Formats: sequence, structure tokens, C-alpha cells
Amino acid sequence: MTTTGNDTKAVRNGRDVTSEIAYLTRSLKAPALRDSVARLADRARSEGWTHEEYLAACLQREVAARDSHGAEGRIRAARFPSRKSLEDFDFDHQRSVKRETISHLGTLDFVVGKENVIFLGPPGTGKTHLATGLGIRACQAGHRVAFATAAQWVTRLAEAHANGRLADELTRLSRIPLIIVDEIGYIPFEPEAANLFFQFISGRYEHASVIVTSNKPFGRWGEVFGDDTVAAAIIDRLVHHAEVISLKGDSYRMRGRDLGRVPTASTGE
Ligand code: ADP
Ligand code: MG
Repeated sequence: MTTTGNDTKAVRNGRDVTSEIAYLTRSLKAPALRDSVARLADRARSEGWTHEEYLAACLQREVAARDSHGAEGRIRAARFPSRKSLEDFDFDHQRSVKRETISHLGTLDFVVGKENVIFLGPPGTGKTHLATGLGIRACQAGHRVAFATAAQWVTRLAEAHANGRLADELTRLSRIPLIIVDEIGYIPFEPEAANLFFQFISGRYEHASVIVTSNKPFGRWGEVFGDDTVAAAIIDRLVHHAEVISLKGDSYRMRGRDLGRVPTASTGE
């Protein structure tokens, strides 16, 4: 009978096919694909998927696994000070920023468009949290990201300069699609540092995105950079294609507390 013949063939092939898939997925270095083949085949049979639908579902699992692995590596490489997500941000507490504005930035159109984002506001209002949340989104979407404070960036640039590698370093940095410069304004810049920082920002202009945070309004960046002209040039480069978001209010850390009390511990502002 034909059915018996087919069954025999299916059993024989079933054995061959299982080991063949194990071999092929090993060659492809596709463990998620290997793990999904049998499980999804059961679903495909019970739900009547076409062959193409089944193939797409298997491949999709492998792609998703690779994307998330890549994201984890990019998040580690970015050196965020802590993991903060846009989902964890409490917009009911921080009323001065619209949820829709951040959701829109979260689509990462600004990275693709090589635009900047600037968060201004007093300490504790959520600037670093939002910058990090956007950075993590970018990592998840496949973009390389690098995070450091303004002081750390300047130290890095000064080292490269001292070693005669500044041009190389600026070129290397200009290839990273999103750089986050946290805490402009906490430490004033020496003239040499301000000049390096200007070159750094200029190198990214219309080329790659920057997110910056600052506790000082633009009007006080002259003090930060020690020179009004340099500050104006930096601001000009940054704001030309940028979303500027001003955060207001008391520190989130002090919410619900007696503000007369001296905080016992602070985790690095
Ligand atoms: P800033 O960089 O403006 O000084 P942070 O982003 O570091 O402030 O915020 C201080 C702390 O409070 C962080 O732990 C941050 O996650 C938290 N925080 C601030 N604002 C919010 C908010 N609206 N919702 C949730 N957490 C917040
Ligand atoms: Mg901060």
C-alpha cells in the first residue's frame, strides 16, 4: 500500500532529517534555529501552516536570538552607568517632559537622521535616565553607542592628543552612530579641553548623533567652557538639528521626602 510505503519513508527520513538538521544548524552556527525546528513543526502541523510559514517562523527565531545577543554586547560596550529604560520612567512624576516626545525619540528616527538630543535641567530630574533609556533602545535596534561623562570624553581626547592620535580618535568616534555626553557643566573645562570638545562635536556634526545632558542652561555654558565664543560655537553645532528638552522640578530621589532633611547617601550626581 502506498500509505505504508510513505510511512516507512517518513520514519526513515525522520531519523535522517533530525541528524541532518543537527549537522546543518551546527554548520550555520544557528542554535536557536536548531531548537525551534521540532517545536515549531508540531505547531505547524496542528495549525496547518504552509511550508513557507514554517520556514519563516524558524528563521525568525534565529534572527531574534541573534539580535538580542548583539544588543547585549552593544549595551555592555556602550558602558552605561546603569540600566535605565524608557519604560521605567515615571511621566506622572516628571510633568515637564511629554511622554509622546520621548516615545517619538524612542523610535530612533533621530539616530537615523543624525540629529541630536539635549536634556537640560537640575540634578535628579531624570536626564541621565532618559539619555540611557534612549541609548539602550539604540543598542537594541542595532546601533553602536558610547556613553561617558563630558569629563571622561575630554580625558580620552586629551590622551589621544598627547599621543599624537587625535585625528584617528576623532575619525573612530565619528563612526559611532550615537554618542552620549553626560553631565556637561558639572566640571568646568580648561581652554585646551574646551577646544578638544569643540572638535569632537564638530566631527559629528550632520554625521552622527549626540545626546548631551547638562545641569546648566545654555546661557551659562560660557562659564562651563571658560569662553563665550567657544561655548556659542559648541551650542550652534549641537542645536542645529536637535530636540532640546528642558526638565524641571525637584530631584526624583527626594520625592515624598521632607526636603529640609540632609540626604544620607547619594549615588553620584
Ligand atoms: P539627572 O541625570 O537629571 O541628575 P537621573 O536621571 O540620574 O537625574 O535621576 C536620578 C535618579 O532618579 C535615577 O535613579 C533615575 O532613574 C531616577 N529618576 C529620575 N526621574 C525619574 C522618573 N521620572 N521616573 C523614574 N525614575 C526617575
Ligand atoms: Mg545625571
